[in-house]
Amino acid sequence: MLPLSPSFAQETLSEDEMYQKRFELYAKMEAVTQIPWYYFAGVDQYERNVRRVRKDIPKQTSIIGIYIKPEIWAGPLNPNSEDIHPATIQFFNGIGQDGNGDGKADLNDDEDLLYSFANYLQSYGTDEENLKIALWDYYKRDKTVALIMGHAKLFKVFDSIKLDKHVFPLPLHANYSYRNTWGDARGWGGRRMHEGTDIFANYGVPVRSTCYGVIEMKGWNKFGGWRIGIRDVNNTYHYFAHLNGFAKDLEIGQVVEPGQMIGSVGSSGYGPPGTSGKFPPHLHYGMYKDNGYNEWSFDPFPHLKSWERTERAEKRKR
Ligand SMILES: [Zn+2]
Repeated sequence: MLPLSPSFAQETLSEDEMYQKRFELYAKMEAVTQIPWYYFAGVDQYERNVRRVRKDIPKQTSIIGIYIKPEIWAGPLNPNSEDIHPATIQFFNGIGQDGNGDGKADLNDDEDLLYSFANYLQSYGTDEENLKIALWDYYKRDKTVALIMGHAKLFKVFDSIKLDKHVFPLPLHANYSYRNTWGDARGWGGRRMHEGTDIFANYGVPVRSTCYGVIEMKGWNKFGGWRIGIRDVNNTYHYFAHLNGFAKDLEIGQVVEPGQMIGSVGSSGYGPPGTSGKFPPHLHYGMYKDNGYNEWSFDPFPHLKSWERTERAEKRKR
């Protein structure tokens, strides 16, 4: 494989070539460590997502998104935190290893980086239970382990690392209306800020998954009524509330794809389970992000508009 300098990687590779290179690296590490490629993809995707939203980590400049702090790479007691000599790094218990066989353990080399992380994982074993323990010891956060495992599952099931397609939550031929209500006072249920967009439609209109994702939550809540939460590979949490009911056999932990029916429009919520009809039927749709520490909501309206536009354009083409 040709060595790729970080700047070369970012400036001249198309998106598809980037995915291809990434996948080749995962596959190579699977061959070396016997750990299935989708776990590497899961960790890498998680780290890339976190890097996009955090300011305390350098921006990603290469193909692999994993970030290892120099002092962890070189070893905490290593006087040279920029060390690239495998022997001294090993002596100081650093994680850094030479993955591409050039005699250097270079933190800025994608192959060295992924190989080092793969080696760390492999020291715990190659099965899912041991990988989870390795990830917990590394990140010290249950949520992070769950997110990585969720990403890995998506990559495995769809056998692809390119899972960024989105669609509008309702079928475009349905009768619906929505406007930007981000930050409005809630029409129903008190003073909390409105964290989402309300899409008004009739009872029973199908509600579809907006993304490739894992069902993270499904159930009743006093305000949201029957709700579903789906986590996609970009670490965005898609939230669907006030449903009339759920699609059959839908379970927490299950993967879904864009356009897959997950439930239907209703007016459930604002009371104990079963309460319905306290407001006009609509889908409350929200989007949330996670930065490795906490979650926050952002405005879904521009995304809804863009998915709707893209889907209409695709329909016209067909
Ligand atoms: Zn709402």
